[in-house]
Amino acid sequence: MKVTATADEQRTRSRLWYVTTDDKPRGFIQSYALDELWLHTGTACNLACPFCLEGSKPGDNRLQLMRFDDARPYIDEALTLGVKQFSFTGGEPFINKDMVRILDYSLGYRPCLVLTNATEPLIKRLPQLESLRERIHKLHFRVSLDHFEASQHDVGRGEGMFALALEGLRKLHDMGFALSVANQVFADIPPEEVTRKFAAVFRAAGLPEDLPRVEFPEFYPPETAVSAPQITQRCMTDFQTEKSRRDFMCAFSRMVVKINGRTKVYACTLVDDDPDYALGETLAQSLQVPVSMKHHRCYSCFRLGASCSEMK
Ligand code: SF4
Repeated sequence: MKVTATADEQRTRSRLWYVTTDDKPRGFIQSYALDELWLHTGTACNLACPFCLEGSKPGDNRLQLMRFDDARPYIDEALTLGVKQFSFTGGEPFINKDMVRILDYSLGYRPCLVLTNATEPLIKRLPQLESLRERIHKLHFRVSLDHFEASQHDVGRGEGMFALALEGLRKLHDMGFALSVANQVFADIPPEEVTRKFAAVFRAAGLPEDLPRVEFPEFYPPETAVSAPQITQRCMTDFQTEKSRRDFMCAFSRMVVKINGRTKVYACTLVDDDPDYALGETLAQSLQVPVSMKHHRCYSCFRLGASCSEMK
């Protein structure tokens, strides 16, 4: 794969976008479609988890709240590009007063996925979600449940948050929405045991015990200096195939964020702490830019197949 930079790109991106620190050509992903559009609703959150990859917390403004008028042009543009799903992450999306309106508009066109902690902000808005139950396109919620033990979950999220998240999950289930759960990988517990423990928690909460779970590696808070192996162009051909390269999120999705008062399109959900990954003002522009594998989180995609998407 030959990657060439336009003069404009060379002026705006750091040298390390193109080469590793030992001057080898950096691995890239060439996007082939826009199947999924993520919208970042803002880094304000009702919780302040120390491990949050977005650094979200109450009042946080690193990424500003995405208003309906910010989101709509991207939703409309994505439809012209053949998008198949809209997905939303934060912060806690239901902190954002425009969230239900944005969902209502998006569901008129495509299925939607919302990542939520399922605590007070979501529970307060459940009556507003009533009108989104019977839409042609489905609304799916992915709820963060860090651990199958309440005490461990609550260490990061605050006392009582495990019980509240399960209450939120159960209410969403009773309303008929599709659900999944996100947790971090447990390095020291066999996967079958983790599945058994979560199944017991779901059963006790009146939920299907086989609720789908998505596991994530440690991503570290924004701008953390993490040392990860560098990915060269050679790595992308020696250790990946054409098919596996198509499964990287940046091959088929983009994320829109509001930063410094302006909306911008970033390569994926994992790199909004690095301005090099702001690929354009429009989705069409952003899809023209080959995505460098220079972020430390790219190694999680490369090595572990990490992905926020449930589409592949
Ligand atoms: S973190 Fe993963 S999906 Fe995002 S730009 Fe890097 S390789 Fe692509």
